[in-house]
Amino acid sequence: MNDPLTTGQIHHPYAPPAGFDAFAPAVHKASTVMFANVAALRSRSWKSREGYTYGLHGTPTTFTLEARIASLEGGRHAVLAPSGLAAITLVNLALLRHGDEVLLPHNVYGPSKEQARTLLATMGVDWREYDAMDPAGLAAMVGPRTRLVWLEAPGSVTMEFPDLRALVAAARHGSATLALDNTWGAGVAFNAFDMGVDVSVHALTKYPSGGADVLMGSVVTRDEALAHRILQMHGITGTGVAANDAELVLRSLPSLRLRYEAHDRAAREVARWLSGQRQVVRVLHPALPGSPGHEHWASHCSAAAGLFSILLDERFAREQVDAFVDALRLFRIGYSWGGPVSLVVPYDIASMRTAGTAWRGHLVRFSIGLEAVADLQADLAQALAGAFGA
Ligand SMILES: *Cc1c(COP(=O)(O)O)cnc(C)c1O
Repeated sequence: MNDPLTTGQIHHPYAPPAGFDAFAPAVHKASTVMFANVAALRSRSWKSREGYTYGLHGTPTTFTLEARIASLEGGRHAVLAPSGLAAITLVNLALLRHGDEVLLPHNVYGPSKEQARTLLATMGVDWREYDAMDPAGLAAMVGPRTRLVWLEAPGSVTMEFPDLRALVAAARHGSATLALDNTWGAGVAFNAFDMGVDVSVHALTKYPSGGADVLMGSVVTRDEALAHRILQMHGITGTGVAANDAELVLRSLPSLRLRYEAHDRAAREVARWLSGQRQVVRVLHPALPGSPGHEHWASHCSAAAGLFSILLDERFAREQVDAFVDALRLFRIGYSWGGPVSLVVPYDIASMRTAGTAWRGHLVRFSIGLEAVADLQADLAQALAGAFGA
């Protein structure tokens, strides 16, 4: 079989209009989709992907993108959502009912935890955090009311890489659905379904888009019944995506792997260089030996994205750390990642964690863009010297 991440994205089946043989999928935009007669109207349902009913439920452009996203990891069904967080919401709302329990890793993507704490709690869904680095602990927590277990690799901001296979085995003790937020891996670092999960969620906002100009998410599964529940929730919540946005992601997918590997190479170089700087007490990058869960990364992954964090010496004042971040010129201050511009955000890690390692020092998270590594290092060097002295 052709590589689904490169060849498969470039040669994905697409039928252009007759007489116009071009590669680029057309951008189809509509609210109304017309039916030839009442029988046609009655025979089509938005609950299946067999035909078109209304722009909100899909167009040829969004169906094409769904098929390509599903093929990235060998999934069978994909549903697009207006953001990565909306994709997470779809899974939660589709699978959780009053009285159910959902388990989240202690280092889960922050807004996912906030959603559990607020929306899910008001629905009467119980949520608990498990230590992502302790599969036995997870096994002990899974009970008869556990309906959904979220997984994420690596952990958000602190970058611990869990033993995913062991976590999946632990979570399988019950009857819960296992959903992985695979935004970091993007299907390139490892395949979600090879790890044994039921659902793979991506923020397409990040590497699949690659331009820092689209918000979109996807939910992919191999299971017909699960896909149906997610599609149903997608329809009743009105969470369709715009065709122009879908076009941007379609345009970026052929270079997904190439870009991912370039971000990865550059990030490892910058992270290694930073680990030699005296102000830096720790570099948290799963592909670097000594980073938490490095051995799991090595056994699960073939690549590592462009994301890492550093811990600056706790002796420094917070103002010095802020001055360091402010002094960076190429690294821009802002959330998200996966685009061409390198980004930086300082995090108050002690206030973000209730389990796992006790973190000391000031955490700064970097997303490495597509600039030249030498330029990024020079920028970091001048900012370190400026804020902390040479
Ligand atoms: C960015 C991100 C999301 C959310 O994606 P948005 O499109 O910004 O809503 C979810 N999970 C992870 C791990 C992310 O990094």
